[in-house]
Amino acid sequence: QEQLILHERPNGLPDENTFQFKEVEVGEANEGQVLLKTLYVSVDPYMRGRMSDRDSYIEPFQVGEPLAGGVVAQVVESKTDQLEKGDIVRGNLPFQEYLVVQPDSVSKVDTNGLNPSVALGALGMPGLTAYFGMMHIGEPKKDETVVVSGAAGAVGQIAGQLAKKAGARVVGIVGSEKKAAYITGELGYDAAVEYKKGDVQQQLKEACPNGIDVYYENVGGEIGDAVWPLLNDFARIPVCGAISSYNLKEGEQDIGLRIQPFLIKSHAKMQGFIVGDFADQFGEAYKFLAEGVSNGELKFEETIKEGFKTIPDAFLGLFTGENIGKQLVKVADE
Ligand code: NDP
Repeated sequence: QEQLILHERPNGLPDENTFQFKEVEVGEANEGQVLLKTLYVSVDPYMRGRMSDRDSYIEPFQVGEPLAGGVVAQVVESKTDQLEKGDIVRGNLPFQEYLVVQPDSVSKVDTNGLNPSVALGALGMPGLTAYFGMMHIGEPKKDETVVVSGAAGAVGQIAGQLAKKAGARVVGIVGSEKKAAYITGELGYDAAVEYKKGDVQQQLKEACPNGIDVYYENVGGEIGDAVWPLLNDFARIPVCGAISSYNLKEGEQDIGLRIQPFLIKSHAKMQGFIVGDFADQFGEAYKFLAEGVSNGELKFEETIKEGFKTIPDAFLGLFTGENIGKQLVKVADE
């Protein structure tokens, strides 16, 4: 059984030297522990930050140590009465095919008839991120114009639908025609801007004739720069991510159009956040999202690669836009 370790810290885009698979023994579950079989692994853009050794809100991965992240697993042996054999759990765990953990490090997933992978996407960290960023910081109102970048991704697909639910006109920025068709056809976005087709600002002007009231920022860089001049008075900008800068090399800086004059001119409010800031309200958000998912009002996609060995590829695909919706790796069947 294998483990995925950080072999070398990347400078710029990670490559084959970044990752290494390592054969490891799994111990037996001792009294009070459970043995888990990994079913799904979540690859997330923020993991790129953890591969570098710099000060952040979350500790860096250590070279030679396993990568870790969102995992859905099944209990195959239990030596505690907190969990039973067969239970499906979720946790922030090392990427490993089998592992022994304390039951407190995972939580049981109630799949409600859905595939358990949903606990890593629409009903997991990305869904919660979309909820708090959009509803608590963006606060879209009826007839306002909301723009979401990374609109067809794990967070973006939910964020846009929440703004629609609030009665806003919603425009998504995406990297392909297929994604444009997905957000306008499936998710109910009012329009799509394809940034790879060029002149993002002109496309945005056409898609947002009344300017922009909320910009849900997932991407940063030149896409953000195209948005700033179009901000309306008292616009809100939840800054969720800036994926376009995650693979900059050491010394490279993401300097574009200066935003300050536009913030002043539009009296806009820009607020960065981390989903964990809202931890005390996860219950409320989860209930809201679960209701929407189970009654079919909230739609979502997952892009699933098969096999533990595909984790590096699945992760790198986030930076070339291979995924529609949440990118996952299926490691084993239940
Ligand atoms: P996604 O599922 O959206 O996957 C990443 C997508 O980003 C790709 O599919 C691609 O779509 C787009 N992308 C990649 N590189 C670029 C680029 N250089 N320029 C423009 N678009 C690019 O990921 P998530 O939904 O999981 O995350 C979205 C953002 O939210 C990330 O920035 C992430 O770091 C952030 N985040 C923040 C959290 C927080 O607590 N603040 C929590 C979770 C996520 P396309 O084909 O459209 O280019």
